[in-house]
Amino acid sequence: MDLFEYQARDLFAKHGVPVLAGEVIDTPEAAREITERLGGKSVVKAQVKVGGRGKAGGVKLAASPDEAVARATDILGMDIKGHTVHKVMIAETAPEIVEEYYVSFLLDRANRTFLSIASVEGGMEIEEVAATRPEAVAKIPVDAIDGVDKAKAQEIVAAAKFPAEVADKVADVLVKLWEVFVEEDALLVEVNPLAKVASGDVIALDGKVSLDDNAEFRHPEFEALHDKAAANPLEAAAKEKNLNYVKLDGEVGIIGNGAGLVMSTLDVVAYAGEKHKGVKPANFLDIGGGASAEVMANGLEIILGDPDVKSVFVNVFGGITACDAVANGIVQALELLKSKGEEVDKPLVVRLDGNNAELGRKILTDANHPLVQQVDTMDGAADKAAELAAAAK
Ligand code: GDP
Ligand code: MN
Repeated sequence: MDLFEYQARDLFAKHGVPVLAGEVIDTPEAAREITERLGGKSVVKAQVKVGGRGKAGGVKLAASPDEAVARATDILGMDIKGHTVHKVMIAETAPEIVEEYYVSFLLDRANRTFLSIASVEGGMEIEEVAATRPEAVAKIPVDAIDGVDKAKAQEIVAAAKFPAEVADKVADVLVKLWEVFVEEDALLVEVNPLAKVASGDVIALDGKVSLDDNAEFRHPEFEALHDKAAANPLEAAAKEKNLNYVKLDGEVGIIGNGAGLVMSTLDVVAYAGEKHKGVKPANFLDIGGGASAEVMANGLEIILGDPDVKSVFVNVFGGITACDAVANGIVQALELLKSKGEEVDKPLVVRLDGNNAELGRKILTDANHPLVQQVDTMDGAADKAAELAAAAK
């Protein structure tokens, strides 16, 4: 989960990284009182999860409370690289900035380690510096066990050639940022710029943090960091029902049991779709091992509720949960949805194979639901589902 700048700033503050005070608002007028409290001037910063806000006009200084309201009016609602600005941070202005540095910690998957990246040429996008002046960017691996103590931090500072007068302060910041990285279970902690101000102090002026979703179970506080406004409503509904669902941009709804089977179903449907107006899978949905009627109904409800879906492919390989149980689940699910007044009006293609497939197919044949048809092979069923979706497109 990527965090907004203000959320990253809060985490930095919690671990003693020097930051500037600020508050987040979603109406321009609220900028006035905060700016007054900050001493009559402020910096107005768009809160969007994308870099380069400054260049795009999403970071503006305001010399008075009136001006802060005006800048907040400009920035709220702005589009920055496809992200609409719903919130701005009204922050304390930095004392005169003398230099801008870049520091980060991240997971380096390719090299199976953690990595520190540091540069005295911060401020702008680090990818640009790395591309044009690679010698100005230091990359130092960080051992997962040893982590970053003062000595390691000094090694990073030396490698990036930070000026002597800030070396100690930057090293201090690095130790604290590593603490953020470890204790908050982050995959990325980035500060750009880490600004040296006239007094000689360094301040984290902008932060980017990405938290590891797999660690959410030990961080109940992560829940509050989720951006509810940006969440896909279908994905949110699926999450509430404990379904493994990911919305995709095609037209064929997919339900399967087991992540591997669902992944290969997506491939087979995408391939079949090439012959049928280029239709593609509309989602990933793994209903897992125990495909009870309720789970099946929940899954169908989510998928049928997606206006992009034109046909549904239910692909089940019976294992511990046998095909007859799944078939009964489908029949009951359709009845359940009907009793809830949710009309099922999209064709379903069902392919049952594996444990008790014969019995499962018979149950569906006997139920004789007008919208359900069976195809016995995965390729054949994918082709049928794609054809039906294409016909309705
Ligand atoms: P980004 O463009 O999304 O990376 O946004 P930043 O928060 O990094 O801001 C971009 C640039 O605006 C920084 O590199 C600074 O030069 C400048 N900036 C940000 N905050 C302040 C501030 O409080 N005072 C001043 N004078 N400049 C700031
Ligand atoms: Mn920045």
